[in-house]
Amino acid sequence: MAETGPPPAETKPFAAEVSRLLHLMVHAVYSNRDVFLRELISNAADACERLRLRALDEPTLVAGDPEFRITLIADRERGTLAVEDNGIGMDREALADNLGTIARSGTRAFLDAAGDSGGALIGQFGVGFYSAFMVAREVEVFSRPVGAAEAWRWASDGKGAFTVEAVDPALAPARGTRVVLHLADDAKDYAEAATVERIVAQYSAHVPVPVVLRLSAEATKTLADGSALWRKPKASIDARDYAEFYHHVSGQYDDPAMTLHFRAEGRQEYSALLFVPSMKPLDLFHPERKGRIKLYVRRVLITDDVDILPPWLRFVRGVIDSEDLPLNLSREMLQTNPILAQIGKGATNRLLGELERIAKDEPETFVKVWDAFGAVIKEGLYEEPSRRDALLALARFRTTTSSDGLRSLADYVAALRPNQTAIYYALGASPEAILASPQLEGFARRDIEVLLLSDPVDAFWVRTALGYDGKPFHSVTQGAADLAAIPVAGDEPQPTADRPTDSAIAVLAARMKQALGDRVSDVRASQRLAGSPVCLVAHDAAADLRLERLLAGHESAPPRRAPILEINPDHALIGALAARAASSGDAAAAVDDAAFVLLAEARILDGERPDDPADFARRLDRLLAQSLG
Ligand code: ADP
Ligand code: MG
Repeated sequence: MAETGPPPAETKPFAAEVSRLLHLMVHAVYSNRDVFLRELISNAADACERLRLRALDEPTLVAGDPEFRITLIADRERGTLAVEDNGIGMDREALADNLGTIARSGTRAFLDAAGDSGGALIGQFGVGFYSAFMVAREVEVFSRPVGAAEAWRWASDGKGAFTVEAVDPALAPARGTRVVLHLADDAKDYAEAATVERIVAQYSAHVPVPVVLRLSAEATKTLADGSALWRKPKASIDARDYAEFYHHVSGQYDDPAMTLHFRAEGRQEYSALLFVPSMKPLDLFHPERKGRIKLYVRRVLITDDVDILPPWLRFVRGVIDSEDLPLNLSREMLQTNPILAQIGKGATNRLLGELERIAKDEPETFVKVWDAFGAVIKEGLYEEPSRRDALLALARFRTTTSSDGLRSLADYVAALRPNQTAIYYALGASPEAILASPQLEGFARRDIEVLLLSDPVDAFWVRTALGYDGKPFHSVTQGAADLAAIPVAGDEPQPTADRPTDSAIAVLAARMKQALGDRVSDVRASQRLAGSPVCLVAHDAAADLRLERLLAGHESAPPRRAPILEINPDHALIGALAARAASSGDAAAAVDDAAFVLLAEARILDGERPDDPADFARRLDRLLAQSLG
């Protein structure tokens, strides 16, 4: 059967996520709606840059119209604003896919983070094309893919469905896309040339494609010249220019915490304009761990989908523009290209150098960076051993003595106590949870600083790091804490008159061990306790209690060893139990119940549950009945 005419118009529902996003857009009480324009201009610029790349191989594609540009048409009479580009264009499928679903992981993360409100987040993260519905009651997209005879129209009122249909090519740009916004009554101001001019100057002055405003059929006014900011001399650029360009490349509207702009001229020649955000990108901990640096070759955008920087710098945004790479790099070649690898290494060196400088010269800025991205940078501690020392020098920690601030390992080592030879750390879910651990008491009593490691990544690097400045890392729950050599701060507590003798403690420990069986691998007197009667520590051969728990269940996990229960000879309860253990009959039987209850107590303080809650309850009840009876 012969084709007869174009396919009919097709109406499709938005993907569920899009509907949610649109709902947020329309209902958000968000004051700065101007951001929709930079999203549309960004898309138009992307479309031009993608065609610029394709035209390298096929120059005829752009032969009739080689100058890329973005044209804005504000029509006050009609109440419309159009954003037009002569970029790559979209066909029927592309329109339905790109403007009907959500492809970006960042936008999906946005939806997850936004919950039902979203208003606050809308000002901070760009949500792309759909932000047009903040100001438009209807959006029409006319598009004609490069080299195609047919043109398409996409239209929607943003209320759940969109339509795609073939359209008379005369209504579409000769090449590329025109997005026409039919402005809502309260947004008619965006049809004013002056408003458009102001917004472009404020938000889009440095997109790498020229932006012009059409004033009449003949006259246009250039609002942005489309030059590559990263190639301009630093002296000609101010912080506002940088911030605005950062918004364009990152799709994030915070101000960069750090800006690094340089031109490398050694073995590889390239320009780099790199930013460290001040706000965490929403997909920072997405399992893909992808970076988003835009790779240019001699001003042509090649991709933003290749990892130039290591994954532990994936929060860095910006542009790297190489003079040396060939323009016709395939994806596979990009993954393994040695020039690109060298550029990545060089840029990483520069970034670390700048972070070191800021750590020294602008400590407040550095703390902000570390608060936002320290957990990511620390991944480098075990992924890139050759950078470990540099990264350890940058690392900042909450510690038992840091109060609200952060401490470096250099600070830590400078404050070592007499005879202290290790850097002590404690792992836990949060600094607060760690601070409540009984294992820290003996350290506090000796004024020994302990690193509070509460990022999930900490358990991994701390195991492989050899140490800092010759001092090994040592967990407070690891093996025997050799604290005896380190003097107690302040007055040595006077041994109480009824402190049990060492041999009485040994008898008690043996009795408890016998009662608990293989639930513990040992019961012994502790140096790390002060106010608490008991705590758990890892088997001497194991690294750390919490780490063992984290690894448990993983295939590669070493066999778990029962922990050691440490008892505090200075605690009145332990004293009383030692006295019981020395007697015989019923009096001593209570020691067994107490052993189980104390083991459960130690587990609870570690954030665990008693092994056998029913047994725990029974024994606790029996002890209470005895003491109250
Ligand atoms: P993003 O730009 O982050 O991918 P958007 O929601 O802004 O997300 O746009 C979605 C997709 O729609 C783009 O990735 C692109 O494929 C397509 N698109 C949007 N505007 C244009 C345009 N002017 N020309 C060509 N494609 C476009
Ligand atoms: Mg976009």
